[in-house]
Amino acid sequence: MTCDVCGHDLRSVPVPEPRATWQLPVKERWVCPWCHAWTERGHHPREVSRPQYRPVDMRWEWADSEELSEDVPHAYGHFGTTLCGIRHDGLTASPYLWDPGWAHACPACGEMAAVIDGRWPEDAQGEKRKRLRTTPPPGSAWPPF
Ligand SMILES: [Zn+2]
Ligand SMILES: [Zn+2]
Repeated sequence: MTCDVCGHDLRSVPVPEPRATWQLPVKERWVCPWCHAWTERGHHPREVSRPQYRPVDMRWEWADSEELSEDVPHAYGHFGTTLCGIRHDGLTASPYLWDPGWAHACPACGEMAAVIDGRWPEDAQGEKRKRLRTTPPPGSAWPPF
């Protein structure tokens, strides 16, 4: 399956537990390793979610693990690492947003966030391209909708 934003191959990632009882459980999640756009499928076959573009200060979750110092907030990079590439067991996304504008935020994560932001194509008006809610690609388990 390819990314609807940039055309790179998507990677399946572990599904997070719902953080609140009112949240719908997610069955599958795919993330693009290039632009980090993500797509989720819920337990209902037609329940597909493709979050739109978000600016860098509203896009990333604060990485959480016992081994990371809270003094230097890192962004969670979706594939079991921080955005700047730190990997260890138990590294997850926290429920809190991460902001590269914080004075103490990890600078390497901030650079990577800016690089990934630049990978989102812009439309003719110079806005980041809106994501389409079209039929799923061939080979996926999704029914047409
Ligand atoms: Zn992509
Ligand atoms: Zn970092």
